[in-house]
Amino acid sequence: VIEIRNLHKSYGPLEVLRGVDITAPQGHVVAMIGSSGSGKSTLLRCCNLLEDSQQGDVIFCGEPVRWRGTGMGRHPADRAQVTRIRTNLAMVFQSFNLWSHMTVLQNVMEAPVTVLKRDPQEVEAAARAYLAKVGIADKADAWPAQLSGGQQQRAAIARALCMEPKALLFDEPTSALDPELEQEVVRVIKALAEEGRTMIIVTHDMKLAADVAHHVVFLHQGRIEEEGPPERLFGDPQSERLRGFLSHAQ
Ligand code: ATP
Ligand code: MG
Repeated sequence: VIEIRNLHKSYGPLEVLRGVDITAPQGHVVAMIGSSGSGKSTLLRCCNLLEDSQQGDVIFCGEPVRWRGTGMGRHPADRAQVTRIRTNLAMVFQSFNLWSHMTVLQNVMEAPVTVLKRDPQEVEAAARAYLAKVGIADKADAWPAQLSGGQQQRAAIARALCMEPKALLFDEPTSALDPELEQEVVRVIKALAEEGRTMIIVTHDMKLAADVAHHVVFLHQGRIEEEGPPERLFGDPQSERLRGFLSHAQ
């Protein structure tokens, strides 16, 4: 569904991504791990074109992003393509990012109605179904501030699902949560993996990565240091850096 090839990204003189390749085929879950500052969030944001890059390809469902200009002056050339990609790669953030002035139901309905121009009645039915799926059907009319962190994150996941995206991108979805609330979000992510959703998950939760991912990527200073199936990567890490990282991770 989403493929990145040889991506380079700098902020001024700082090279944050130095030739990264990552592929999330249909139905696959890719987990991305690595220490703070290794470029995980940046790479995720490059997937849905929230960030520009200087070199390399971003390919969505076989369709390469068309760029205008080169190097530092490179931008996506086709706004319609950007919108198509963004609405099909729904992002879930560490900090939930719900709109505080809207109820939970309104949050879930907002983008499908205003961006995708779907019929509000149909969207409401779908939104309620997704809220039920993540276990918070009874919170539809609550305000975000009235929800626990775990409930807010599940509302954010329902909001992403309601876009009916081709893939979901998670950036540390459980890091802001207390351990007991973390588990209710982990359960939802596991259920999504079981139903064959395509996902890229940035996480510091190695157990989550081991449980749901088909493929794990270890990023170090903007490069992929090591990657492979979770059993191999966690069971028999080759690189010294990955071994060091894993020994500190739990
Ligand atoms: P963390 O685990 O802490 O979330 P990360 O792997 O997600 O880290 P990124 O957020 O991708 O790391 O950041 C990679 C590098 O890019 C860091 O050195 C960071 O300081 C830098 N960076 C990120 N965003 C910007 C920005 N808008 N301007 C300048 N530098 C940035
Ligand atoms: Mg990050």
